[in-house]
Amino acid sequence: MALALTSGLLLAKPNIVILATGGTIAGSSESSTNSSYAAGVVGVDRLIAAVPEIKDIANIKGKQVSNIGSQDMNDAIWLKLAKEVDTLLKQKDVDGIVITHGTDTMEETAYFLDLVVHTKKPIVLVGAMRNASSMSSDGALNLYNAVSVAANKQSYKKGVLVVMNDEIHAAREATKTDTTSLNTFASPNAGKLGTVYYGKVNYYMQSLRKHTYESDFNIEDIKTLPRVDIIYAHPNDTSDLLETAVKNGSKAIVLAGMGDGNAYPSVLKAMAEAVKKGVIVVRGSRTGSGYVVRNEEVNDDKYGFLTSDNLNVQKARVLLQVALTKTSDKEKIKEYFNEY
Ligand code: ASP
Repeated sequence: MALALTSGLLLAKPNIVILATGGTIAGSSESSTNSSYAAGVVGVDRLIAAVPEIKDIANIKGKQVSNIGSQDMNDAIWLKLAKEVDTLLKQKDVDGIVITHGTDTMEETAYFLDLVVHTKKPIVLVGAMRNASSMSSDGALNLYNAVSVAANKQSYKKGVLVVMNDEIHAAREATKTDTTSLNTFASPNAGKLGTVYYGKVNYYMQSLRKHTYESDFNIEDIKTLPRVDIIYAHPNDTSDLLETAVKNGSKAIVLAGMGDGNAYPSVLKAMAEAVKKGVIVVRGSRTGSGYVVRNEEVNDDKYGFLTSDNLNVQKARVLLQVALTKTSDKEKIKEYFNEY
């Protein structure tokens, strides 16, 4: 930590690295009132230069990891990003990381890092719903708040955090709930961890699930991630998509089930067939919140299905990808769903 003179006191300013991956926060448009824009065009230096106030909170360094709309996120960038975060946070002179990211898949990247990076130091993901050229863009204040959270001692041991719209969410819980609203991120099962208002951080909650420094998974051991698919359930469904996914090498399937994780009869049958072929099948819910109850409407023990606990289907997919790098033992993966 470097020393800075603030209000007559000698205070240590933390060293924060901003890793930029793209998204609307790095987007720009021809006009401040036109909603169409190109995501991932503004580089990390311009992002930092646009919010000089962050230098009052921390010593800032920036690095570009990718510059994409987060709908283009892939395993290769995840692995590169996680390795970068891991290497930086092992350095004594790095106190926290802020990752600028598109909002579409921010929740998945956050949860992936939450599972595989061993650290007690803060890792904060941040984005924007309005691009940098927009009237009343939210990017600058979101970035200021994200750096404030990463620089705050209370953020240690909290796991990976998502900071958007003055709120702090846990990676496991945060989800994008609205296509365009500034208030799109919510934690439907648990509520937000805290708030950050013009840089002032207040925490109220903490996750009890395993993450970061207590995780059994480690990016140091992960070279590739397996294919895992999500199958969305609906009335009058067919088993075509599930069967194709299995035929094309899917190692695990997450059902975005109706209600409490229910499938149409033909799909239920195909799920049972997939289990017999060694594919891990997890019943999740398309409702967006709640716990999927085992052996209630569906006899999970008989079919050999797992359930997603209260993870949404996109996060159940991430946990499966990571879990399968360590084991394909169904009972062990079942335990992971109770722990993470
Ligand atoms: N499609 C954009 C992205 O996820 C949306 C955003 O960043 O808000 O990169």
